[in-house]
Amino acid sequence: MSDESTEHFTLPDGRVVRVFPASQPARPEHPGIEEPPPCEDTPQVCPSCSGQLVYPVSWEERVGDTWKLNLRCPDCEWRGSGEFGQRIVEAFDDVLNDGTEAMLNALRSASRANMEADVERFITAMNGGEIEPMDF
Ligand SMILES: [Zn+2]
Repeated sequence: MSDESTEHFTLPDGRVVRVFPASQPARPEHPGIEEPPPCEDTPQVCPSCSGQLVYPVSWEERVGDTWKLNLRCPDCEWRGSGEFGQRIVEAFDDVLNDGTEAMLNALRSASRANMEADVERFITAMNGGEIEPMDF
């Protein structure tokens, strides 16, 4: 069995190692070029591509109501970290919750559309005599 998407390397002792490429191509490195810092008031906005889908990879509470966030942009693979005040982190949390809600709504309507399409196909097949009692 061979898979075009994997690469094989033979180690000196004869063992073969298969390497699976990452599902998303890594952003090319630009040595010497600094990544732009995150947007101060709107951490959800990517400073590199202006996408609005930046999300926290991790966050840790700091003293004095500030949070250190490690951020990632799924659009351009920008990564950065910064310290944000409580007010901004709370607003960011709201943005993330809204995003989760929007995603769940999209998932629900996609599921419903799929189900409707299945029912349509079933009705068409039944009307066309393609489904018999013995099918069940
Ligand atoms: Zn980006």
